Amino acid sequence: MPDVVTMDKIVSLARRRGFVFPSSEIYGGLGSAYDYGHYGVLLKDNVKARWLEAMVRERDDIVALDSSIILHPRVWEVSGHVEGFHDPLVDCRTCKLRFRADHLDEAQCGRKPSKRPGETEDCDLTEPRHFNLMFKTRIGAMEETGVDAYLRPETAQGIFVNFKNVAQIARRKPPFGIAQVGKAFRNEITPGNFIFRTLEFEQMEMEFFVPPAEAEEWFRYWVDERFRWYTRFGIRESHLRVRPHEADELSHYSSQTSDIEYLYPIGWSELEGIAHRGDYDLSAHTAGSGTKLEWVDGEERYTPHVVEPAAGVNRSMLAFMVDAYDEEEVAGRQRTVLRLHPGLAPVKVAVLPLIPRNEDMTTKARALYEDLRRAVVAEYDDSGQIGRRYRRQDEIGTPWALTVDEQTLEDDTVTIRDRDSLAQERIPIAGARALILDKLAQDWTTPKVD
Ligand code: ATP
Repeated sequence: MPDVVTMDKIVSLARRRGFVFPSSEIYGGLGSAYDYGHYGVLLKDNVKARWLEAMVRERDDIVALDSSIILHPRVWEVSGHVEGFHDPLVDCRTCKLRFRADHLDEAQCGRKPSKRPGETEDCDLTEPRHFNLMFKTRIGAMEETGVDAYLRPETAQGIFVNFKNVAQIARRKPPFGIAQVGKAFRNEITPGNFIFRTLEFEQMEMEFFVPPAEAEEWFRYWVDERFRWYTRFGIRESHLRVRPHEADELSHYSSQTSDIEYLYPIGWSELEGIAHRGDYDLSAHTAGSGTKLEWVDGEERYTPHVVEPAAGVNRSMLAFMVDAYDEEEVAGRQRTVLRLHPGLAPVKVAVLPLIPRNEDMTTKARALYEDLRRAVVAEYDDSGQIGRRYRRQDEIGTPWALTVDEQTLEDDTVTIRDRDSLAQERIPIAGARALILDKLAQDWTTPKVD
């Protein structure tokens, strides 16, 4: 069955169910920033938690870090960002729009009929100019005595400048990694496509420090490993691909990069980049700071090379939502369902009394809910028709719903409804919590076929 999903449907679901709102909406919105509502926060937190688990908890060779957003301004000079972190932009003197020179074939001209910038006779494009993407700010109370600083455009530099601390104090020997999740800021020329490209976003980056001779091998390892993370959490393999960068696309620090791309409704686009950064960063910060960032063990001394998988939290969340989105007709009625991996689903289980007016049912349901929520994110809902309550849970991707009905009052069993198969089974209330935890621990594959 062909995919029914479009970006408009995702934006509308995200808004309708309170995942994502346009930022500062009552002032007309900003267009390039978004606010995350209740289910958006839960989903985004789950994306980060699953990443941290895979990177840190399930391994012996990676530790966590949370560095500052504002670093010493020298960091960005030495890292090459002040000089080299820019996009080429062109302005159209006619329609006054601004485009990324390297993305012209994906852009739309501001005049009707809409064409690519430069395609109509009236288009009057400037020569490309370099535009630095870093947001500048000032440290200090006084305008005159303050110091210019930047909001970090990537989390990676906070890791490099802590290399020595972590290597010494965490007693790590290469190959080892440092993982960090946090906000990054870029003054993007053309933000857009919902949460795909925004001015502020969250990154999940891991710098893996290795002996130089092993870097190639680790690079391939991390491309495979990261690809598998997306399929493990439900993305169809046919909607993912690895695209090696051409030499002229490489960032200033990278000798080799492959992007993991996802087939978004806007087409194949970057989800994550895996870069072979060589010794670029540690050598630059050694020269810039005078602190030797190298590995020393007896006779052994070298500057480790770095392999970096850098993923976007918001872009991943969008990909997970897009890939999970489904519409189908059940018993003559249309339903929209997010077939999210249970580990990502914002709410794991809903508890629903079949007849909300029946106090015995609501009391039992409420007690079950209070027991479940001690272990997982659960929701209690006693408003409206049962069918409508199921639909609501389907739309936010809740994998299981427990319904308290007449029979519950007789034998303390409830039905468990599966979001994807719609199968219903009776289970004892006493075993409900253990059953949900057991289901959550199991491997899961998406029921969606291409
Ligand atoms: P792009 O080419 O799309 O601008 P990039 O190659 O500059 O991205 P990286 O510097 O490799 O991106 O950043 C790592 C990850 O951070 C990206 O794969 C993406 O998931 C995320 N990311 C980067 N810029 C943004 C943004 N403006 N909004 C949301 N996520 C972003």
